[in-house]
Amino acid sequence: MNHDFDVISAARNWRTDAVDTATPDQIISSVYSSDVLTLEQLKARLSKPTFKSLQATLERGATLDPTIADTVALAMKTWAMEKGATHYTHWFHPLTGATAEKHDSFVSPNGDGSAIAAFSGKELIQAEPDASSFPSGGLRATFEARGYTAWDASSPAFIMRHANGATLCIPTAFASWTGEALDTKTPLLRSVEALNKAVTPALKLFGASEGTRVSSTLGAEQEYFLIAEEYYYRRPDLVMTGRTLFGAQPPRGQELEDHYFGAIPDRVLSFMTDAEQQLYALGIPVKTRHNEVAPGQFEIAPIFEDSNIAADHQQLTMQVLRNTARKYGLVALLHEKPFAGVNGSGKHCNWSMSTNAGENLLEPGDTPHENLQFLFFTSAVIKAVDEHQDLLRISVASASNDHRLGANEAPPAIISIFLGSELSDIFDRLESGQGGRGAEAGLLGLGTSVLPPLPRHAGDRNRTSPFAFTGNKFEFRAAGSSQSISFPITVLNTIVADAVSALAEELKAKLDAGTELDTAVAEIVKGTYSAHKRIVFNGDGYSDEWHQEAEHGRKLLNLRTTLDAVHHLTDAKNGALFEKFKVLSDRELAARQEIMYDIYFKTVNIEGETTEYMARTMILPAAVKYLSELHAAGSSKAVRGVAAEVEAAADELFDAVQALSAQNTATGGDEVHEKAHHMRDQVLPAMTAVRQAADKLEKVVAEQHWPLPTYRQMLFVK
Ligand code: ADP
Ligand code: MG
Repeated sequence: MNHDFDVISAARNWRTDAVDTATPDQIISSVYSSDVLTLEQLKARLSKPTFKSLQATLERGATLDPTIADTVALAMKTWAMEKGATHYTHWFHPLTGATAEKHDSFVSPNGDGSAIAAFSGKELIQAEPDASSFPSGGLRATFEARGYTAWDASSPAFIMRHANGATLCIPTAFASWTGEALDTKTPLLRSVEALNKAVTPALKLFGASEGTRVSSTLGAEQEYFLIAEEYYYRRPDLVMTGRTLFGAQPPRGQELEDHYFGAIPDRVLSFMTDAEQQLYALGIPVKTRHNEVAPGQFEIAPIFEDSNIAADHQQLTMQVLRNTARKYGLVALLHEKPFAGVNGSGKHCNWSMSTNAGENLLEPGDTPHENLQFLFFTSAVIKAVDEHQDLLRISVASASNDHRLGANEAPPAIISIFLGSELSDIFDRLESGQGGRGAEAGLLGLGTSVLPPLPRHAGDRNRTSPFAFTGNKFEFRAAGSSQSISFPITVLNTIVADAVSALAEELKAKLDAGTELDTAVAEIVKGTYSAHKRIVFNGDGYSDEWHQEAEHGRKLLNLRTTLDAVHHLTDAKNGALFEKFKVLSDRELAARQEIMYDIYFKTVNIEGETTEYMARTMILPAAVKYLSELHAAGSSKAVRGVAAEVEAAADELFDAVQALSAQNTATGGDEVHEKAHHMRDQVLPAMTAVRQAADKLEKVVAEQHWPLPTYRQMLFVK
């Protein structure tokens, strides 16, 4: 009997008792990353020189030696076919925000009726998907519509399985022939490099050793809803738009607060376990699962990883959640606001910077020296967020996230930083020159251990902040549940690179002038905090007072909707920033702006038409049918009363649908931003009017006639 197989199948079921010869570690490692072509796997399959050359590419960003490509491709193909793969694909992240794949078979006919398995180095390194229908924002004229994908050797290849086979997926970047990025991965990789280039020299000033490299780390917490599949298919709005465009509030919402962290229902737990097993095989370190605040809402969170890999893994996580739910008669809704009046879903992005030796730069240290460094980088983040509030807001802007930001339990659209009282207190004391505890403690005392011990993993929590310091990392909470995390991380990396390089220059100048490191850093931290502390807010981000104070007192940006925000993407400041750090050229930036407008327009346009369709062909007919039944039922007081209510709501709905129809037909102009504004200013309000009337009807039409599954059913039936 094949013992390996035995171990694996037992492990897939976590039934350690079934395998008396395997240790728990063996069981986990037989599953974890079993579908990933890890460095270890490659090392075992490649000659020493070939592996060394590949490793140089991975570790130092050296260009790949093309002469080894064939050898690496052969090893990959062999590994993949042993895993049952029949096809391979370049897997990439176009500007749709999703992922794309085009499969090619390993089968290559010989011409004599026989065939062999083929996969060349050329096919590994580069491919040319028929890319003309991916959004390019004008970067690609149709006459040169070709784009190409290029192997990202820094993210490991993996196997995607389905019921009848498997596919080798090769993470790639996607660009036009003119070298412009057509994807979300390329700028992310560039921003990681920008961060490294800015932070490493700063670290050297603190005494970092040669060979230190810096990257960003990211852990993304994914929130989602699960509903029964039979309801999903009877809701054209969910199928077409991912959210309910109609639905009266159920008699019970989340006010009982009995769902959060509650016992996970059996069917849901079976689904989660299945999804996790697949994610482990893909080497995705999922760690936490729990019920979220709203009924029917859940969360899955991994342990943080290098941000490029985390971004790939996040996309895979969404895909696995969606696919797996179906096996259990469920549908996973990743939309930011599937249900009006109920908490929305976010994707908290926990972000930090780390050296290749694993030192977390946002971890308060044990020594005053480490703390100096920590305070330096934390002030850089404060400066970055204050100076580029607009970019952070834009990085999470979408039609769907507009329903969430500023709503129930979601961070406001105003960007601010929560530092927590202990850390704020330290910055305040540094600013006022009080330094440490004792009266003798001046700023100069920083290096002589009078700096109060910094809070480690501070206990206080603030759910209302869009950007919170949580002990040893920042948590960017405004990101939406359905979005790719690539752009938010790209923005974070770039703005922090900018702030660090400015502060490092200042520091270097002071050191060159003979100032002691302690004193120089203290001065910089003090100055930076003074200049940017308006962005720090530890109070209730949901309160009206905060909105007043933020906007009028502190003059922080309040970019309420996607269109208010996206407008600023190409501001001169932003163009210059992305150019300076070689993350996005002006053309690439303009293309992204154009695509954001376009996706906004198309999203709301589909919603508008779906609203009209459902109101006309499902809801009005139900009301009319019920009315005719009521009319046939005689003219008792009750019948007349109910009929009057139904009739009033139906009339209101009819008028609202006519008005929406007129707006759906109009465009607002030819330019994409004009069309987008038409959607926001005309179509969305017209949809709201239709919904209000329809929701009134839902409360008076007989349940047997109501054509749509209700909130009560969707949220509470598990
Ligand atoms: P909390 O409950 O405060 O949100 P957790 O420890 O559960 O904190 O972490 C939430 C997420 O933050 C996890 O994905 C975790 O891996 C991630 N995280 C922890 N440390 C870092 C770090 N240094 N960089 C990026 N993400 C991190
Ligand atoms: Mg958290």
